[in-house]
Amino acid sequence: MSLPQAATRATILLASLLLALTACAQVPPNAPASPSASGADPSATPSESPSAEPVVTPTSVPLITGLPTPWPSDYVTGKPVEQRRPGPGEGHTAGPNTTDRIVLTFDDCPRSLDEFKQTVTGVEALGVRVVLFALGSCVQEGKIDVDFARQHGMFVYSHSVSHPQFTKISDDAIRKQLSPPAVQGAWVRPPYGATNKHVKQVIESLGMKIWLWDFDTEDWRGKPQEQVVGEVVQYAEAGDTVLMHMQWHAFNTQAIAEMKQGLEARGLQLCRVDGPATADGPFTC
Ligand SMILES: [Zn+2]
Repeated sequence: MSLPQAATRATILLASLLLALTACAQVPPNAPASPSASGADPSATPSESPSAEPVVTPTSVPLITGLPTPWPSDYVTGKPVEQRRPGPGEGHTAGPNTTDRIVLTFDDCPRSLDEFKQTVTGVEALGVRVVLFALGSCVQEGKIDVDFARQHGMFVYSHSVSHPQFTKISDDAIRKQLSPPAVQGAWVRPPYGATNKHVKQVIESLGMKIWLWDFDTEDWRGKPQEQVVGEVVQYAEAGDTVLMHMQWHAFNTQAIAEMKQGLEARGLQLCRVDGPATADGPFTC
């Protein structure tokens, strides 16, 4: 049984238990869970054709409100874990990590500046370097301190100002999305990973490059921390860039410490912190 299937079964079991406890009506075993309408996907690339696999229904965990924008509804969500990596011949993340160490990356916006600083200093104390693709709107709201994170060794790059799909806006709009208050630096992760040849040209004309990911945890579906940690430990491979989000459940020191420990047991290492990080300087891991 794949993890998503296991998760779905666990969800159904839990739901059934709750219903039994409250003496409510029975749930037919095959009742479809309601699809998440504006359903949240920062992960799949829009150019992907829909998967032939049955779409696993989203879990019943409510989405955290206050996400930058509703996710487009045309993404295929809930893909089995094996399909959350680029296939053979589909290219690589194109990021700057040339080592076998694994880069944990977190997008969007944390829940608070306190939580952000705690995680940054906690991760630094672990000797680990993570990469943050932050929203300019989040910086403006004061939930991210870019200089603080860089001083503590974390690379911080751009994820646009307000999270639009770059494939659906004008060149001027893309340029504006990459200007302050957007984070200024060498790398950009377009929201949802939505890119194409033209978007790439516009970004490169600004002197920046696109960095996507190799393994998508789909943490934005509200997966509990232990599930995200478990998937990273089980599925991340040498040299991978792993996609997670600052507002979801794995952006904390404990989760990252467990990933480090679990990966080390498989003979894999996370990126190591080796002093302050810069905006435009070489990426070191
Ligand atoms: Zn995002």
